[in-house]
Amino acid sequence: MKTHLCAFFASFCLLGSWTAFAEDNPQVATPEAEPRVVLPGPPPSDAIVLFNGKDLSEWNGDKGGPAQWEIRNGVATVNGTGSISTKKSFADCQLHVEWAAPKEVKGQGQGRGNSGIYLQARYELQVLDSYQNKTYYDGQAGAIYKQHAPLVNASRQPGGWQAYDIIYHAPRFDENGKLLKPAVITVLHNGILVQDNTEIKGLTAPAGAPQYKAHAFKEPLMLQDHKTPVRYRSIWIREL
Ligand code: MG
Repeated sequence: MKTHLCAFFASFCLLGSWTAFAEDNPQVATPEAEPRVVLPGPPPSDAIVLFNGKDLSEWNGDKGGPAQWEIRNGVATVNGTGSISTKKSFADCQLHVEWAAPKEVKGQGQGRGNSGIYLQARYELQVLDSYQNKTYYDGQAGAIYKQHAPLVNASRQPGGWQAYDIIYHAPRFDENGKLLKPAVITVLHNGILVQDNTEIKGLTAPAGAPQYKAHAFKEPLMLQDHKTPVRYRSIWIREL
């Protein structure tokens, strides 16, 4: 009897405190508010794998046919056949890309290990061999090309594998194509913050003031062929 009374009293207290907690925090009281389970990777269980070292079946070449970059030993290498774009389109996302500049150093400045990750096929996060290689600051690795230099230079030596972890929010346009909200990007280069909630000013053109031109909410991801044999491996994306 004593045990029963104790159990009753305990459940009464628990129920009471839960009710009070739920009243104070209505958002946790609904089952749909529970964060869904994602198994850590790499890649995370809800990621779309865009390149896993086997083939470029998720990509098109710049003329619309299959992507022609060379695949060998789990690595895709830029080979002068043109930039490649994903068949799928994306808006807000978390993106992981591993890349390496050529081990053999050739050229200088923008001519050394140049490629690029074009969010929505228009906003370039620069890929460049920026290890002891001077160029304009908003054109080095980790830059939003011709707009924002990286906060620091986190480059590894040529040939070393590097990672970009990107959180990107697409721009919003109204139905007349007027910009409502610019794109915003955060980038970790080899785990080091290089773009911190940076507002993209528009198309990352080589010259002239950047401007926005309205586009679809979702657009493909593009990797640049800048005629230097930059290599890529693990690429995955999570839609946000
Ligand atoms: Mg580039």
